[in-house]
Amino acid sequence: EKSPVTILVPGWMHERSVQRIDAAFRMVRTERVDPALLTSEMKRDVRGIAAMGFREPVDAALIDALPNLEIIASFGVGYDAVDARHAGGKGIVVTNTPDVLTEEVADTAVGLLINTVRELPRAEAYLRAGRWERDGNYPLTPMTLRGRHVGIYGMGRIGMAIAKRLEAFGLAIAYHNRRPVERLGYAYHASLEDMARAVDTLICVVPGGAATEKTVNAAIFRALGPDGVFINIGRGSTVDEEALASALRDGTIRAAGLDVFANEPRVPQALIDLPNAVLLPHVASASVHTRNAMADLVVDNLISWFSARKPMTPVAETAHILAKTT
Ligand code: NDP
Repeated sequence: EKSPVTILVPGWMHERSVQRIDAAFRMVRTERVDPALLTSEMKRDVRGIAAMGFREPVDAALIDALPNLEIIASFGVGYDAVDARHAGGKGIVVTNTPDVLTEEVADTAVGLLINTVRELPRAEAYLRAGRWERDGNYPLTPMTLRGRHVGIYGMGRIGMAIAKRLEAFGLAIAYHNRRPVERLGYAYHASLEDMARAVDTLICVVPGGAATEKTVNAAIFRALGPDGVFINIGRGSTVDEEALASALRDGTIRAAGLDVFANEPRVPQALIDLPNAVLLPHVASASVHTRNAMADLVVDNLISWFSARKPMTPVAETAHILAKTT
């Protein structure tokens, strides 16, 4: 049965979320995520927001424009563009969509790693261009996964799922977080640069934001070394892309596989021009199956909050609000 609560869906949102919000609540929409588009009725009535908070700015200005706001349900596990600290300070809950995408993203990370190391996209392009028949076998790849030592930057939910897969591949695994994970057998490095020196394959899956911005930079690529492979499935903001393009061009590292970029959907031409970079358009979680699960979790958080004051997956910055009300 329909709740009288008003939910704002600003800008683009997954169609399944839109339909379920429309069925369960009173839904209002704006064309873009922009406080200037809010009507006085919206300002008075809106108690919840559903938004693509991994890229659309749900910032202090939007939050402050809605005095009766209680919850921001963000699509995606990363919520870089939501000012969760500001929301938390005002007693507004922010939720994201963890866990339901973990295995899909880990699958993609492993696929991207293999494509990068064994040059599978280039080998396919070779076949499609008729070169197998004309020029003979595709050259042997200088790189192999065999014997690689992998360092995971961000041993969280997804990092762990990647590690589990790569362990089954017989690879050595190390990781860097701000804190070691209790009872985890993989080698921990307190410094990212020290880990980069110890491994030859760096997989980045940390959240974006100020704390990780451009932390993968020229010094890290030098430490990774000439057989180095860099995989980024986390956020583009974590990487100094100019330094990466130079490192790939001059042989500081050997290859990179990237699913995310600093200024999406714009990808630096310097990276597109490099044959030793495998580039994907941010598709790590992008199957119908997994995006439907994410869309459902956005709506289930709203329903759970307005029916029982229990958000299912609140983010760390607003977890105290849950504690206070339960
Ligand atoms: P988690 O929160 O479970 O894991 C994040 C990990 O990163 C934690 O282990 C954390 O450990 C570590 N970390 C966080 N900040 C820092 C820091 N400043 N320095 C070092 N380590 C840090 O998140 P998930 O595994 O669920 O997701 C990770 C990220 O992957 C998301 O935030 C998102 O940005 C990205 N992602 C990308 C997708 C894509 O489509 N390409 C899809 C899904 C996610 P500690 O707190 O101890 O530092």
